[in-house]
Amino acid sequence: MDEFALINRFFTSLGRHSHGSQADTVIQGIGDDCAVLSVPSGQSLVVSIDTLVEGTHFVAGTDPAQLAWRLLGASVSDLAAMGAEPAWVTLALTLPAADESWLKPFSAALGEGLAYYGINLVGGDTTRGPLSLSAQVHGFVPHGAALLRSGARAGDLVCVSGTLGDSRGGLECILNADIAANDYLLDRFYRPTARVSLGQHMRRYATAAADISDGLLADLQHILTASCVGATVNPDLLPISTQLAAHFDNETAKRWALSGGEDFELCLTIAPECWQVLCEKAPSLAAQLTSIGVVDAELGLRLQTAEGTVSAAAVGFNHFANETRNS
Ligand code: ADP
Ligand code: MG
Repeated sequence: MDEFALINRFFTSLGRHSHGSQADTVIQGIGDDCAVLSVPSGQSLVVSIDTLVEGTHFVAGTDPAQLAWRLLGASVSDLAAMGAEPAWVTLALTLPAADESWLKPFSAALGEGLAYYGINLVGGDTTRGPLSLSAQVHGFVPHGAALLRSGARAGDLVCVSGTLGDSRGGLECILNADIAANDYLLDRFYRPTARVSLGQHMRRYATAAADISDGLLADLQHILTASCVGATVNPDLLPISTQLAAHFDNETAKRWALSGGEDFELCLTIAPECWQVLCEKAPSLAAQLTSIGVVDAELGLRLQTAEGTVSAAAVGFNHFANETRNS
């Protein structure tokens, strides 16, 4: 199978399906030298790219369907963190061989993921070499409405969506044969769910946002640095799933929730008066929101512990933050 036959068989067909409310923005999709796309009036274009490299971000032999979900989930999560609506994706694939038994499940899962996120495959590149996958995602936000990292203010609450640490728990199930595999935790590792509708909803409420890819402490610190503020977080308030709590001891679960990474939940700062409104709306939100701390004027990130308030760096969580970081 040559390169063109491969593209035709596994990717051109995916590009023919129109997904989401932005399908009519694709003037020319896969098949020409470039895609031709139109940004709706009043909207800003939001762009991000993510890469997965075999041996660095995943082990050799990883199920191609899982890779497709993980690639899309991780890249669309960046759009979610901006409050953007997904529109288009381009895919750069480097493959060691035109292996149908890899391409077929990859293409099928990618098609499912595209439909799930309402995002249109509009182009890409296919080359031969060590396995590597890049997805560049494009989305829209109304002019001036993007959720930036730089808007947090002293007095805001620090909030997170969903539960934290699950992805790290899933990775532990994969790496450690002594630990019984748990489907929920494995799914959270392989199939992260980008919080797209929550992100869009939070444009009205959040002062700043980031998705949790490097670990809560690292990603919250990005918000604090960009906003020139600090924060104090209470680790006892971290949302931990019943599955993570059942598989690992309390301290481990808490440590992974703080620094495990790759949960692709959202970390948001919210003015206290907006929090009240959000709590009333809680049942209609796409994901559970938990308030875990407060933004303060004093720079730095602190944790409330039994011994009092200590610097997160001093507790040594930065070390753990590097434990699973691979990007
Ligand atoms: P060019 O040589 O002009 O860069 P290619 O021959 O690489 O174009 O690609 C032909 C068409 O197929 C282009 O529209 C390109 O965007 C698309 N394409 C190539 N690889 C992929 C892929 N992995 N996924 C989606 N579209 C792809
Ligand atoms: Mg060309």
